[in-house]
Amino acid sequence: MQEKVGITTTIPVEVIYAAKMVPVDLNNLFIKDDHPQALVEEAELKGYPRNICTWIKGIYAAVLKNKDINTLIAVTQGDCSNTHALMETLQLAGVRVIPFGYPFDRDYDLLKLQIEKLMAALGVTWQQVDETKKRLDLVRQQVWQLDQLTWQQDRITGWDNHLYQISCSDFNGDPEKFGQAVAACLAKALDRPQINTELRLGYIGVPPIMDDLYDYLEERGARVVYNETQRQFTMPFNTSDLVEQYRLYSYPYGIFYRLLDIKKQIALRQLDGIIHYAQSFCYRQIEDLIIRQQLNLPLLTLEGDKPNKLDARTRMRLDAFLDMLR
Ligand code: SF4
Repeated sequence: MQEKVGITTTIPVEVIYAAKMVPVDLNNLFIKDDHPQALVEEAELKGYPRNICTWIKGIYAAVLKNKDINTLIAVTQGDCSNTHALMETLQLAGVRVIPFGYPFDRDYDLLKLQIEKLMAALGVTWQQVDETKKRLDLVRQQVWQLDQLTWQQDRITGWDNHLYQISCSDFNGDPEKFGQAVAACLAKALDRPQINTELRLGYIGVPPIMDDLYDYLEERGARVVYNETQRQFTMPFNTSDLVEQYRLYSYPYGIFYRLLDIKKQIALRQLDGIIHYAQSFCYRQIEDLIIRQQLNLPLLTLEGDKPNKLDARTRMRLDAFLDMLR
């Protein structure tokens, strides 16, 4: 049986697959659990504070619950300072922790050094990693096609666009099997009529903790045709250089670099409005003020806390936003 390696966010996953290990995106593990809220409560019972982001608490308890995850690659720069304490509490529980940092200034040499440290920790060579990149890129290309069908041909729902792109952080542990699922989704999409929605929306920020946002919007005539972070997880860049790929990847590198990508996609995809999602107790909420100043488009900021459905207040805010856009 192949060893599982937990990841706290997208990292150069080629290194894990090259080492013949199986990456597990811990965010997905937490949110796909049968009772994600029970995991959050368990973390609080263990001593995690109430006013800490739910993703962190959920990941902590998910690792404790899934005993086959004994190694964790934690992103210590470029994601979230809460990850530091998460990593320490898991270390205390006996999990092997390997840190990985994205250099804030996107320095090529520093990033290469980080990737090579990870390669040394898992015992793989550049040749193995480059071969694995080619293998994963075949699957990524299918997901790029799915994204194109979303905004160019109106054949993919906002939820499917979210789901398949976000799954590219770990390819659900089996890239070829995941590729087959993407191919089936593409075939189905090409076989059905176009999805007619009056409004085209963009979704930016960390992925939502509630799972009914996309369907709710579509029932009201608005479809998300751009998922910022999820799309970044697919590495939508034409480069054979692995280091450059993770240098172009925008999520870990600060708001101004992210905004370059967001502005380009707003124009390309002809969006009517933007939903900026911010998780409760997340430092990224502060960046909302920069985003509001920098984007010249109607914007709704949504806040989510617990892993459940949209609450009545959020539904009302979404309704009012859509009315305003019309
Ligand atoms: S939502 Fe914010 S606080 Fe929570 S894990 Fe992500 S970056 Fe950290």
